[in-house]
Amino acid sequence: KAKLDGKKTFRMYETGKDGWRDDKSDQLYAIRRGLTDNEFQLFMQPKISMCTGEVVGYEALIRWQHPEQGLLYPQQFLPLINGTTLEIQLGEWVIRQALMHLQQWQNQNHHWHISINLSAYHLGFNGFLQRLGEIIADFPEVDLQFFQFEILESHALDDLSLIVDVVRRCRNEFKIKTVLDDFGTGYSSLSHIRTLPVSAVKIDQTFVRNMLVDVDDCKIVEGVIALARSFDLEVIAEGVESLRHGQILLSMGCEFAQGYVIAKPMPVNELLAWNQQFSLPQDWRKYRYHQQH
Ligand code: C2E
Ligand code: MG
Ligand code: MG
Ligand code: MG
Repeated sequence: KAKLDGKKTFRMYETGKDGWRDDKSDQLYAIRRGLTDNEFQLFMQPKISMCTGEVVGYEALIRWQHPEQGLLYPQQFLPLINGTTLEIQLGEWVIRQALMHLQQWQNQNHHWHISINLSAYHLGFNGFLQRLGEIIADFPEVDLQFFQFEILESHALDDLSLIVDVVRRCRNEFKIKTVLDDFGTGYSSLSHIRTLPVSAVKIDQTFVRNMLVDVDDCKIVEGVIALARSFDLEVIAEGVESLRHGQILLSMGCEFAQGYVIAKPMPVNELLAWNQQFSLPQDWRKYRYHQQH
């Protein structure tokens, strides 16, 4: 992604005479060590309803607070563990951590959902549902209707019937909803929307971001919203960077928004304070008024 251009994956500092090394097995070792040493963190980015002006939930986005290299973003380390058992371990850590936050919010009477990103590899791993059940059993009080998975459609292709089955069982057995992330970027979006038992689609931020300057992207966004709505799916726009984006999305029938104009992903300990001072911008509210009347 653009903001990471020029940034590489993290590098290990080798104290020996070789200087920098970035051998893959060293990197995997470092990630494993980071996991043991509790260096990973979930940042939270709010999702709002542009109709009610309320925060409906938060997306959990992983970060690595690396002792020497500072805060690392998912693109800097997730590609390295793609398709390895470490990816599954990290994914299980994310599930556990998210349930812990959800439990805390529910104890405080907040009705926010939490969504986590899961790789299709993890979802398709054959112990997935059993492990999920075991982790969930550690949180007997949590209301799982507020737990959601986001899956990337570009990866959901490999074994679609397996993914369909897992997504359905998550919904039927655990009441966990699934959202199709980055919708429109995969190459069989149209069949996914009818095959996968998802409850919502997230329009990819590249379309959203360019919709004000690129008439084609604007048409795609409008088309995706109409398509999703005709399948009775909720629509979330990601990458909402200005009020104008929000207004146009709302007029196209997209209710939910996530993006920098609302808030950047934040550390969990800033969330309550942010939430308290948040209100839908005045201009947005005015527009909503005109829409409804
Ligand atoms: P995603 O799930 O599509 O998440 C949205 C990404 O867009 C996040 O980047 C977020 O910080 C960024 N973003 C949100 N609003 C805006 C905006 O208004 N403008 C711009 N330019 N960007 C915005 P992030 O946190 O770097 O995550 C990148 C990707 O890494 C995620 O894309 C997701 O696919 C993956 N990812 C993040 N956390 C996890 C995780 O815990 N597990 C797995 N498997 N993947 C993760
Ligand atoms: Mg996501
Ligand atoms: Mg996305
Ligand atoms: Mg994305």
